[in-house]
Amino acid sequence: MSVMINIEKECPFCDKKSTLSVVASDYHAWQRGLQIQYAFPDLSPFYRELLQSGICISCQEYIFGKPAPENEEEWGEYLGECVNCGKPIYSKHNAVEGLYQCDSCYITMLMDEHTGSLLEEV
Ligand SMILES: [Zn+2]
Ligand SMILES: [Zn+2]
Repeated sequence: MSVMINIEKECPFCDKKSTLSVVASDYHAWQRGLQIQYAFPDLSPFYRELLQSGICISCQEYIFGKPAPENEEEWGEYLGECVNCGKPIYSKHNAVEGLYQCDSCYITMLMDEHTGSLLEEV
């Protein structure tokens, strides 16, 4: 059986503390210089980033504009990029009263039913 250790990280953006449970020998291999993707092949990139930088999952979702694997359902379907700033827009995450709002530049968009592409609301 693998020995697990809990690593506590504090987010540099929002101060939220996150605790991650990892296999102790993997953690020590990483600390000794093994590249993180080889030390933790089963961790999603979000959790590797959390280990490296401490940035919490919700701040990463905001920064990268995409959901962590466990939140994909909650965010819904990827619809396309914000027409103004290029940030990804998701069917549930960005939905506001039948329109879609970018959480970076705050413009609202609507979905063109014919082309399936996003258009800025005018
Ligand atoms: Zn955070
Ligand atoms: Zn935008």
